Amino acid sequence: MNLIDGKAISAKCKNETAEEIKAIVAKGMRAPCLAVILVGEDPASQVYVRNKKRACESVGITSLEYLLDENETEEKLLELIDFLNKDDNVDGILVQMPVPKQIDPDRVIEAISPDKDVDAFHAYNVGKLFTGAPRFQPCTPAGVMRLLSESGVEISGKNCVVVGRSNIVGKPMGALLLAENGTVTICHSRTNNLPEVTRTADILVAACGRPNMITADMVKDGAVLIDVGINRVGDKLVGDIDFEACKEKASFITPVPGGVGPMTIAILMQNTLTSYKMRFGL
Ligand code: NDP
Repeated sequence: MNLIDGKAISAKCKNETAEEIKAIVAKGMRAPCLAVILVGEDPASQVYVRNKKRACESVGITSLEYLLDENETEEKLLELIDFLNKDDNVDGILVQMPVPKQIDPDRVIEAISPDKDVDAFHAYNVGKLFTGAPRFQPCTPAGVMRLLSESGVEISGKNCVVVGRSNIVGKPMGALLLAENGTVTICHSRTNNLPEVTRTADILVAACGRPNMITADMVKDGAVLIDVGINRVGDKLVGDIDFEACKEKASFITPVPGGVGPMTIAILMQNTLTSYKMRFGL
């Protein structure tokens, strides 16, 4: 079994972004800029926003933080997004999800300019991804792809099974694996006989948000196991894959924490740089 070290790979990825930004700034150009909006005071969201700010600082991206009241109206949020869309000094706009119930998340996502949509959630960028010409990489799935490539895992021709079909993880994960010529199956809560399907996987990506749901009997010998799940159980974070039970069967496996988690922010930094480069034609 080989453990995939997400911390080390994300550090490498951020370092590449930082080097590129350093070279750009050395030419006298401004640094890339990411605007992050948080509505309300959800503690988990506050941690995510703080981590994004720290990552920006570490790679040389200017970060702008907009903290809106829990009761802020959708109209006010859309006005702020419009203002940031028009600001030439802002390259990326991110609204931390989930938003409070008076705000429609779909309207928020569609309001962000596709040119500044560094989460790659806008329908235009999703369409670009599915037609094979992505501009921004969907952060978590692209992080998984980087973990696979850094580990030397061949995807072409392999049976890839993704458990979960959300717009932010499962579906774009399937699209990226397909683009690398994997034979992709996407499973969900209505899938019949899930263990039978997961046992066909050469590469299994678990993104179902169910602690330790993937057990050893659901895994083929020698499979590559990627665990996207982050679940709080008591005071511990656990993944969707039963790590202890599955690790001896796997050829490669990601831990939780320290696997996929750190990659998401690293790709967000990369996307902000991509947006900046598109803006300046670099
Ligand atoms: P969602 O809740 O949006 O989606 C979960 C998916 O899993 C759904 O498609 C659901 O099916 C499917 N599912 C749920 N239960 C089962 C089951 N028993 N059998 C088969 N499929 C099932 O979650 P997300 O995609 O947003 O996140 C998934 C996990 O990844 C979570 O633990 C989340 O915390 C984590 N995550 C981690 C990130 C990171 O940076 N590492 C980033 C984003 C998420 P159906 O559609 O039928 O309901």
